[in-house]
Amino acid sequence: MTTTNFDELATRILGGGAATEADALAVLQAPDSELMGVVAAAGRLRRAYFGNTVKVNYLVNLKSGLCPENCNYCSQALGSQAPILKYSWLSKEETLKQAGAGLRGGATRVCMVSSGRGPSERDIDKVVEMTEALKDEYDGVEVCACLGLLKDGQAARLKAAGVDAYNHNINTAESHHDNIVQTHTYDDRIDTIGKAKDAGLSPCSGLIAGLGETDEQLVEALFALKALDTDSIPVNFLMPFDGTPYQNTWELSPLRCVKILTMARFVCPDKEIRIAGGREMHLRTLQATALQVANSIFLGDYLTSEGQDAKADLEMLRDNGFTILGLDADAFDELIASHDRPAAAHGCGDSCGDSCGGCASGDTAGGTCGPQIRTRGAGTAVPANA
Ligand code: SF4
Repeated sequence: MTTTNFDELATRILGGGAATEADALAVLQAPDSELMGVVAAAGRLRRAYFGNTVKVNYLVNLKSGLCPENCNYCSQALGSQAPILKYSWLSKEETLKQAGAGLRGGATRVCMVSSGRGPSERDIDKVVEMTEALKDEYDGVEVCACLGLLKDGQAARLKAAGVDAYNHNINTAESHHDNIVQTHTYDDRIDTIGKAKDAGLSPCSGLIAGLGETDEQLVEALFALKALDTDSIPVNFLMPFDGTPYQNTWELSPLRCVKILTMARFVCPDKEIRIAGGREMHLRTLQATALQVANSIFLGDYLTSEGQDAKADLEMLRDNGFTILGLDADAFDELIASHDRPAAAHGCGDSCGDSCGGCASGDTAGGTCGPQIRTRGAGTAVPANA
């Protein structure tokens, strides 16, 4: 039975204190009926550090599928039968086109991701070229690379090319890691985050909830991220693709997801907490509630699955009184209005019109439908969702 007073906890943190592991566990185990009070308390931290801004990020999957690693949660993994798009490296031109769609859609950060254990030097050459081209073309764009395990010297090459951040998720607690992947270790992951930090790249690392971990392991993972002092923390909610070992694994509810994000805010009050994959599928109608504690999202589609329509993302932010980081109010209105114009007038093409993001049938209420495989954007001839 918890006795934590979350408003007092927020006051203590704002005064320079820190949440304990017991506090974090109390958030996860708070009664559902009291959750909105807990969210309001954590929301004080969110507003103290980030106001009502939401950072918008955009994913470009440079290389999809065909991975030799066996991360059990991943649709791109060795042995995955998920019917995802599979392609080798996008060209620089295609990358610029896909990134441009996201940037015009309101994103300030482009996250360039490739499947695989880690990049070769030739892969780094490609990302260097892409980064330089992106920085030339789009003033002020932030570039994050997510290319897997890094070898000595590779982070420095990315930094020299203008890459701002490097993402490598710890994914889960160290005590649970070997249950979810066997082809690399938790220490391999920590090593790569260290290499990125040492090279001066902004470290981005987060987790995936819903992998059979206990509450205590979620707390363990969050405190590991706190110790790593990563600047941004993407929180993913497992999307159980058919054809992967986690197919039909449904451990999460919308309230559970809000509790996880709220815990993250209490533990890492001044860090960018990003609601990542699985947002639509698992938070459902609580997406906006979750943004009372989180301050960052991905716009549009994910690496191998489709997110809700970009216009629905933008309208959700505006309806709930949020602003987009880097965009003034008029530009925000104009951006939303641009989605109402015919495709030819604003250049983004048509989208599928399905705003569900979690299910081909548009019905995720029972939590029984799988992810909707991405069939637009990078690797296809169909315009991106942005
Ligand atoms: S998470 Fe990355 S390394 Fe693991 S299987 Fe997927 S693409 Fe490969």
